[in-house]
Amino acid sequence: MACARSPATYFSRMNGKTILISGAGIAGPTLAFWLRAAGLQPTLVERAPEPRTGGYVVDFWGLGYDIAERMGLIGDINRIGYHMREMRIVDQTGKRLAGFGTSVFGELTNGRYVTLGRSELSRLLIEKIKGTTEVIFDDEVVGLQQQQDHVRASFRQAGERRFDLVIGADGLHSKVRSLALGPQQRFEKHLGYAVAAFEVRGYRPRDEDVYVMYGEPGRMLGRFTMRDDRTLFLFVFATGDETVPEALALQKTMLQTRYGAGKWECSRILAELDRSPQLYFDRVSQIRMDRWSQGRVALVGDAAFCVSLLAGQGSALAMISAYVLAGEIARAGGRHEEAFGRYDALLRAFINKKQQGAERFASVFAPATQWGLYLRNQIIRAFAIKGLARLIVGGDIVDTLRLPDYHWPLLHESAAN
Ligand SMILES: Cc1cc2nc3c(=O)[nH]c(=O)nc-3n(C[C@H](O)[C@H](O)[C@H](O)COP(=O)(O)OP(=O)(O)OC[C@H]3O[C@@H](n4cnc5c(N)ncnc54)[C@H](O)[C@@H]3O)c2cc1C
Repeated sequence: MACARSPATYFSRMNGKTILISGAGIAGPTLAFWLRAAGLQPTLVERAPEPRTGGYVVDFWGLGYDIAERMGLIGDINRIGYHMREMRIVDQTGKRLAGFGTSVFGELTNGRYVTLGRSELSRLLIEKIKGTTEVIFDDEVVGLQQQQDHVRASFRQAGERRFDLVIGADGLHSKVRSLALGPQQRFEKHLGYAVAAFEVRGYRPRDEDVYVMYGEPGRMLGRFTMRDDRTLFLFVFATGDETVPEALALQKTMLQTRYGAGKWECSRILAELDRSPQLYFDRVSQIRMDRWSQGRVALVGDAAFCVSLLAGQGSALAMISAYVLAGEIARAGGRHEEAFGRYDALLRAFINKKQQGAERFASVFAPATQWGLYLRNQIIRAFAIKGLARLIVGGDIVDTLRLPDYHWPLLHESAAN
């Protein structure tokens, strides 16, 4: 990428600029890392009292994997991650109906494909910025006032502070988005499903390194074995409701209603759910915006363009957007409008394509009819035919974007952490 000014000039101009990042999930700590590497001064605020645990697992590959490698994290990611053998669809008795060896993903990505806990990826990213970035847990931004040369941010606990820029990395239900760009409903596109996940210890049966999926019309239930005798369960079901219950008891009731009459291991899994103190529960939505910034405030990751779980790549995209935004802020030497404009121009077409792909995939994940389920299983069977899987998913798996190269004067310091 051509640079009009010398890297040293950017560095001296940017050094000391303060940037508040809301949200320490995937995009937030990645952004903090690269801003530090560029010589800026990020502050990260996270609403949760401590790094989150549990949740669900994410498949991780593509340019997100490349960025993690540049951050010096790939060794740890592969150590704590899982290398799946098989995706298996079963019938109500547990008999295999369809499936495929997941080595196809390894082949399409030259072995750079791993599955790991989203919270574990987040924890690794947060550890990477320890000591170089101010990280505040158990607080959040409740007000933003944009001035000519700064933003005044009000915190729930910590009073008011001023920053040069504020970035929302606070996920699908971003507070920064609603404060600076408008209410959630203006940008949220419901995909017609809800998702829930929880994990338990000691569940039987276990099928090591196999992702087992059972489907009935309009609902699927997945089982995934993890280390330390843990099992993760994933529910995805069709719903016309645009809201989901917030209280744990109501969420459990909703799952009982949807899956209570279900076959396979549904009743056993619901009994486990009954005892579980934790449950991830949300609607499956995308965020679609014409612009990802307003004045001195910008958005990254799910806050800007949530692609949904159906893309299977939201974490990687969150990291890509964080890397590009940090690079463009540094490159523009403090001119935030130029930086935000280039960030948008570089990523928009790429993200649009991912969102469209995910929307197409929705009906495949939890087909609404028995016929749809049958058809889906036939397609999955075709994955076993050599070369066909590459043809079917190759276009979605291989990222076409080329990551820009930026100048990172403090990269060695950040990466060595
Ligand atoms: C079931 C499921 C399966 C998925 N599978 C995959 C997959 O296979 N591969 C993949 O790449 N992606 C997958 N995803 C998507 C992926 O998890 C997200 O795209 C990714 O986590 C987005 O990262 P983020 O940092 O933008 O947002 P998040 O990870 O959601 O992080 C946002 C952070 O902001 C914090 N926060 C929220 N509000 C505030 C506030 N007001 N103030 C301060 N902090 C706040 C939250 O506590 C959280 O820590 C899946 C998602 C789901 C739900």
